Amino acid sequence: MVGRVKVSDGGDKRITVFDHPLAQVVLTQLRDKNTSQMEFRKGLVKLGRLIGYELIKTMQFEDVEVETPPGIKARGIKISDMEHVVIINVLRAATPLVEGLLKALPDARQGVVGTRRIEEKPGIENISVQKLYTKIPPINKNDTVIIADPMLATGSTILAVIPEVLNTGTPKRLIIISVISTEYGISRILKAYPQVEIVTVAIDPKLDDHGYILPGLGDAGDRAFG
Ligand code: URA
Repeated sequence: MVGRVKVSDGGDKRITVFDHPLAQVVLTQLRDKNTSQMEFRKGLVKLGRLIGYELIKTMQFEDVEVETPPGIKARGIKISDMEHVVIINVLRAATPLVEGLLKALPDARQGVVGTRRIEEKPGIENISVQKLYTKIPPINKNDTVIIADPMLATGSTILAVIPEVLNTGTPKRLIIISVISTEYGISRILKAYPQVEIVTVAIDPKLDDHGYILPGLGDAGDRAFG
């Protein structure tokens, strides 16, 4: 467990569990079945903001010099990577998470991907994902692309979204941001795309037959939007 977003090459170092106490407090509220729709949505916004601030710590910056009103030079920094961020909103549950991320990364360009889960019969191996709508801005080699999806359960949705991103360009970094993940979903994604980084607030132990995370927090879209 780490308290800041780690960037490193290969292996499980590509997975960061964001264990800042404030993030864990918000996650606890999200898990609570008595948390109202409004508080749930606000909680996702808060988490997006907190994760966004942590992510900025891993971004490249450059030294700059400015002149202060008394006419003296002062040294500072500019976070150049912040000017090259694309956030992909995996509709619909990611919308509040994206709202929070945008508070930390206000200049980010945005894309959306709409998907639908199809469950022909119980069993996680029987869940497939249909892509309904994709709109992603052109991606350049110096971009950091963030795919936001609060629940990384089987990984099938993210596995459907990543090719849509890569079809529009190869970014410098491709980061999945989720609130709760499972080892099953994470390992499927990293097996297919070892270059991906994953930031999550928790990794839960189980998936039920319908692909829901246990203990989880229920259906994130239903809880945020009613
Ligand atoms: N999507 C959700 O909203 N919840 C889960 O537990 C899994 C996928």
